[in-house]
Amino acid sequence: MAQLILKPGKERSLFRRHPWIFAGSVDRLDGRARPGDTVTVVTAEGKALARAAWSPESQIRARVWSFDAEAAIDHAFFKRAVAASVARRSAIPALKGQEGVRLIHGESDGLPGVIADRYGNVVVLQLTSAGADKWREAIVAGLVQATGCAAIYERSDSEVRGLEGLEPRTGCVHGELPAGGLTIVENGVRMEVDVEGGHKTGFYLDQRDNRLLTGQLAAGREVLNCFCYTGGFSLQALAGGAKSVLSIDSSGPALASAQRNLALNPQLDVSRAEWHEADVFKALRALKDEGRRFDLIVLDPPKFAPSAAHAERAARAYKDINLFGFRLLNPGGILMTYSCSGGIGQELFQKIVAGAANDAGVDARIIYRLAAAPDHPIGLAVPEGEYLKGLACQVG
Ligand code: SAH
Repeated sequence: MAQLILKPGKERSLFRRHPWIFAGSVDRLDGRARPGDTVTVVTAEGKALARAAWSPESQIRARVWSFDAEAAIDHAFFKRAVAASVARRSAIPALKGQEGVRLIHGESDGLPGVIADRYGNVVVLQLTSAGADKWREAIVAGLVQATGCAAIYERSDSEVRGLEGLEPRTGCVHGELPAGGLTIVENGVRMEVDVEGGHKTGFYLDQRDNRLLTGQLAAGREVLNCFCYTGGFSLQALAGGAKSVLSIDSSGPALASAQRNLALNPQLDVSRAEWHEADVFKALRALKDEGRRFDLIVLDPPKFAPSAAHAERAARAYKDINLFGFRLLNPGGILMTYSCSGGIGQELFQKIVAGAANDAGVDARIIYRLAAAPDHPIGLAVPEGEYLKGLACQVG
């Protein structure tokens, strides 16, 4: 097996169990390795530390599979790791009875580059690193064994594959997708999941608990849901007894899906829902000019800052939508505001929201800190990635 020799002193992050080895930490590769092959990670002094997957084309040159430098990285390793991830979800009470659950969350489950989401009987798999790509068969076999699912659909079309020199790959790798489409029930609301064409693996499972909370807060309120995608927050708000729900997104197909979702739930009152295809930045200004007011506003935008390099521009964008969010609230109203930008930390996000409240001239306090659902764990030593943070702020 080839050996990845670190530069002197570059083992420190490995001692903290951080699983990435950047190009700048690598002195050389002794021996030959193809993309995705397992290499042994060795300090400049010759001490073996870990087994990792080799990604020669990426700035992240290797990702650790095991901090045991003698571990066998083979089919059995992946079967065990997949089974352990699935078992962790089975032990979480809040996930009991949920049809949509993230089973594998990459680095945080010790499986860098592997995402697996279960939607009923179907698992959607996304492989984003050379190492994960190489072990496709073992990961698929592990998922079939651990879940007994009828089908596994691969959605490896994320842009980050390009950084690894990998082509996109999509299609069934086990069984067949159900004819006539796939739906799940999330806390009483039926939603379609477009595993072939939807965002990510078809649905934003990380927001499950926050959508439920929105429903619980919505009774009797006039709700505005910005960046509504397929209407997850909107439908929970309706289910929770909202007086009205205005939902905005710039994507026509997302809004069409949202309306199909509403039709899938005959228990909800269609007449309380209004859908608006528009750019949120413009729509918020227009609503302000029209003198509209709301009691509950959800802002769940796409990632404005994929990395720290975009943080400044992204901060302005977050500030802008939060400022208008606060301005559009009635007294006692609640703003539920999110960021999934890795480049904006928790503390900075709170500062931006606080600045927006100040500029809007409102007195606001945090009533909930909002995080991703527990099937999206964050490894303590794992990079921040695009983890979800949010605040629910109530104005005076
Ligand atoms: N809240 C959703 C997920 C939001 S994803 C859920 O729980 O499922 C982000 C959404 O923002 C996408 O649907 C995308 O179409 C939309 N979007 C991105 N930029 C936008 C803009 N400037 N104005 C309006 N919608 C936008």
